[in-house]
Parts: sequence; C-alpha cells; structure tokens
Amino acid sequence: MTPVKLNALFFGTHPDDVELTCSGTLAKLKMEGMSVGIADLTRGELSTRGNLTVRKMETDKATKILNLDFRTNLQLEDGNIVNNVTNRRRVIKLLRLTKPELVFAPYPLDRHPDHINASNLIRESVFYSGLRKIVTAKLGVFRPRKVIYYSHAYDIPVTFIFDISDTFDIKMKSVEAFESQFFNLKKSNGPETFISRKDFREYVLSKAKYYGFKIGVEYGEPFFTYEPVKVEAGYISHI
Ligand SMILES: [Zn+2]
Repeated sequence: MTPVKLNALFFGTHPDDVELTCSGTLAKLKMEGMSVGIADLTRGELSTRGNLTVRKMETDKATKILNLDFRTNLQLEDGNIVNNVTNRRRVIKLLRLTKPELVFAPYPLDRHPDHINASNLIRESVFYSGLRKIVTAKLGVFRPRKVIYYSHAYDIPVTFIFDISDTFDIKMKSVEAFESQFFNLKKSNGPETFISRKDFREYVLSKAKYYGFKIGVEYGEPFFTYEPVKVEAGYISHI
C-alpha cells in the first residue's frame, strides 16, 4: 500500500457496506475538497449472491464513481471477524499509514454479527494506534480525532444527520455498481435475497428521505458519536 494522507477513512465490513450506508456523506466530503478513502475488512466471500471476481469488479467500479483517493481490503475472514491482536495490528498499520482525522465505522449494535465485531475492532484499534509502545515498522504513532458511527439495519441513536441532497445520486450509482447484490434478480447471481429485490431500492431511498426530512432537506444520512459534537459560533444559526 502506498502511503496517502486522508482526511476521512470509511471502514466497511463487507465491500458495498460503505456505499449503502454513508457514501452520500463520503461523496460530499470529497466534493468539498477532502481526501477520502475506504477500507473494506473482508472480501464478502460468504455473500449469497455473486462471487469474489464479480465483487472485486463491482468494488472497482464503485471506487471510480466515488472518486476515492484510496481503497484497500484487509482480507479478514468474512463471517469470523475477530477483535484480536493480529487484526488490530492490521487496522493500526492502516491508520498510521493513512493518518485520517475522521474514522467512520459501523454502529456497535446491528443484526449482522460481523458489523458488531468490526465496530469493536475499529474502535479499539483507533485507541491503540495512539500508543507509542505499540510499534509498527517505519510508521509513527497516530490517533484519529474522532470515530463516527453509521447505521446498518438497526436504527441508531442519532447525534447528527448529514445533508446528502447534493450527492444522493452519486450514492445510488455507487450502490448500483454492486449489480450482483442489489436491485437485481438475475438467476445467474444466485438465489433471491432481501437486498436483491427491487423494493430494496425503495428502502434505501426512503431511509435517506426519512433522515433528510428530519433536518429539512431532501436526503440525509444519520450518525452517532460517543463524544459530544463541537458547534462554533458561525455555525449555530444553521442547526
Ligand atoms: Zn456488511
């Protein structure tokens, strides 16, 4: 991996997780001139539909649509994400390599056990990445300023909603890049799943509409942070 300084690094447990949950925010940050990247933890080898070759092609396509500065896959085991020393070191190395101020991670309570384990793995790695006595060759210590959690299947306690009205179309295009997974019932891609049905598109759209409505805009994505969010004088009139 070539070192690249990022403003924000989005972790996805499976390729397509970031696209589905918070790519509107990612695209908006990119539009505003920030440097953004995605780290997929697994290759999604347990997915009911598609296969690894197809999934990789789809990931490359989504990467182009989102105009990412960086994307990597840590190749942890799908269905068996373990929060142990070996996996934390992989995440720590990545954090020290890319030095993101903001890290986005799945909310630590979800229907999919992998998302829960990934959330804990990322949160702990962010902390340990700042400890000097955890040594990684040639990479200095670095701790991101904040971990921001996004929502998968479950509703989350909302700290803030990000306005994605400008980038909702980019989000949908990046989701559609995963043709084997979403909105597509082609038999060649495998048995029908909830996310392959056409009405799943309605769910994605409705969720963005629902959160957008709550803040008076067209589309939004919800986030949670454990720490309070700082608001400065110039911004308070926009709340
Ligand atoms: Zn996932």
